[in-house]
Amino acid sequence: MMNIDTNIQFIKGVGEKRAQLFRRLGIATVGDLLHFYPRDYEDWSKISKINELPDGVRGCVAGHLSYPPELRQLQGSRILITAMITDGASFLKLVFFNNRYIVDKLKEGKEYVFFGKIERDSYYGERQMVSPRFLPLEECESGLFPIYRQTEKLNSRQIAKIVRNALDGIRDTLEETLPVYLIEKYRLLPLWEALEKIHFPKTEDEVAQARRRLSFEELLSLELGLLSVHSEQSGGICLVNRTEEFFPSLPFSLTNAQKRCIREAAEDMAGGKQMRRLIQGDVGSGKTVVAAALVYSCAKNGLQAALMAPTEVLAGQHYRSFCRFFENTEIRTAILTGSMTKKSKDMVKRQLENGEIDLIIGTHALIQSGVFFHRLGLVITDEQHRFGVNQRAALVEKGENPHLLVMSATPIPRTLGLIIYGDMDISLLDELPKGRQPVDTFLVDSSYRPRLYKFLEKHFSLGQQGYIICPLVEEGVSETELLPAEDYYKYLQTEVFPHRRLGLLHGKMKSQEKEKIMQEFADGKIHLLISTTVVEVGVDVPNATVMIIENADRFGLSQLHQLRGRVGRGKEKSYCVLVSDSKKEETGERLKIICANSDGFKIADEDLRLRGPGDFFGERQHGLPLLKIADLSSDEKILIAARKIAEAIIKEDSSLKLAKNKPLRQSVARLFGDDFSIFS
Ligand code: ADP
Ligand code: MG
Repeated sequence: MMNIDTNIQFIKGVGEKRAQLFRRLGIATVGDLLHFYPRDYEDWSKISKINELPDGVRGCVAGHLSYPPELRQLQGSRILITAMITDGASFLKLVFFNNRYIVDKLKEGKEYVFFGKIERDSYYGERQMVSPRFLPLEECESGLFPIYRQTEKLNSRQIAKIVRNALDGIRDTLEETLPVYLIEKYRLLPLWEALEKIHFPKTEDEVAQARRRLSFEELLSLELGLLSVHSEQSGGICLVNRTEEFFPSLPFSLTNAQKRCIREAAEDMAGGKQMRRLIQGDVGSGKTVVAAALVYSCAKNGLQAALMAPTEVLAGQHYRSFCRFFENTEIRTAILTGSMTKKSKDMVKRQLENGEIDLIIGTHALIQSGVFFHRLGLVITDEQHRFGVNQRAALVEKGENPHLLVMSATPIPRTLGLIIYGDMDISLLDELPKGRQPVDTFLVDSSYRPRLYKFLEKHFSLGQQGYIICPLVEEGVSETELLPAEDYYKYLQTEVFPHRRLGLLHGKMKSQEKEKIMQEFADGKIHLLISTTVVEVGVDVPNATVMIIENADRFGLSQLHQLRGRVGRGKEKSYCVLVSDSKKEETGERLKIICANSDGFKIADEDLRLRGPGDFFGERQHGLPLLKIADLSSDEKILIAARKIAEAIIKEDSSLKLAKNKPLRQSVARLFGDDFSIFS
């Protein structure tokens, strides 16, 4: 009897050898295979007349060869095979490369169906199909044909046959993985049918139905997993709200949005439950001071706070800001980063353990062993999408249910936000401090550089500062194409701005050097900072008013928006200039989105639409499981529904112990795998 755990080797058509090939695709069991979804489909359901299939559109035509295929040897060992087919009304040329076997497979006079795209030959404008797939007419089954990610020795057709065998073999034993009550209520396809339709749909509509069921299940499992982690630890330390005592010491008055966010968080912390709150605000909206007010209140209640930042530069920046905010208070602030000397680290750790520090700011160093708190009451992470869920949890573990505040500089698409922060309450910081003006943004090519230098000089003479951002030189990209920050810095300092002070900042510098440069820039001693993207997050120098971004086409939209957020933080009008010599139309289109929009949310959604979620999910920095079918750029509705349903389920059955939820419990365990032992 076959079940989902059956070794793939025992499926009809798979032997030891093929099992090995499948393992290379990460497929070891029948279940793995059935959840190995097609990445695309070919529509073999409709056969067009040759002259009716438009150029550039994938489709099927039928025809026969009037004479055998011709084989020609090209330069090197390349082979070109051409054939001419006709459907009685018109002719079509077929072209294949480097595949001798075609000659044997295509027989003169026999009817075939060819699937492909008709293009125009670049010499004569003749219509042709390059490397079409084909089948003898009598073997052709109507329907959408699945296309899989392939290995060299396993093509889509072979994989499809084996999937077919697996589906047939498991039909009677396959257990449903969604509770019946959900299937009925939301009119979803049963599991076997969904799997059959995702692999072998007859119509696009069947694909959509199958995807709906499978994406729903995946997103529901995800949400359930995330929600249930925290459903149990609900007790929290009660803190009296003392944030308002802090306000008079500030050099500005808070925006209404800031006051609201502070109040919402302070109420959480006073409520007896553990706070889990996200402060979401675009660059420049003033998140830091919101955190400061909560740290202040926490300290006044006799508890410590910890702030974790993703980079040393940002930790240093925060340290300076908080010291400034707390200048007129008794709050004691310290910093802990990996690059500090052992001696100073040890001293900070000792003070922390003795309760002589109220706020500790640091990098990942904070979650290492050997760091102990006297009494940790509040954990803050900044720019959290760079931390894994697990890292955040590790810091929280250092206390007893400390409150958690996450600050996020918006640009992450809404759907992704719903997932990453799915287990949190959200406060929106949707108002910029008074007097801010939008940053004027332009797109130019490198012939504008001389003018840009003059533009910078004009701002320097007004006492303002600027940034030039260079992309990292990646391996494999020729150096002439990109401007390495260091060379560019030398050139600018000696040839263009010999009378100004320039600074260089890049990732390979020692942390102390970086700190020193940042400090000098913040103090206004450096006019122009040449930097890689290390300034991307969080750096705050309101006197900087011009940013020039070289090779702007190398950056993602959200990253550009983050970078641009480093200017326009003060009262002066600020400018951002994107320099790009790219001739690609899409690139120009992409960069114009930045020029035309100042709203981080909008830009992030455009970014997701253009690039697909792959980039956001790249490297799995967020520590979430990989999704197999759900598509975050288009499945937002399903996600929101899944979220609501998950909430209701968890409310009734927090650890999925009820019999009716047993299948869900298994799905969650399967999705999260070993690295997330929620349901242990
Ligand atoms: P972000 O949300 O990008 O982290 P910051 O917290 O760094 O923004 O704040 C940006 C700048 O605005 C800082 O210089 C900060 O001191 C200043 N700021 C914050 N709140 C206000 C306010 N209410 N009025 C004026 N300036 C403010
Ligand atoms: Mg910030």
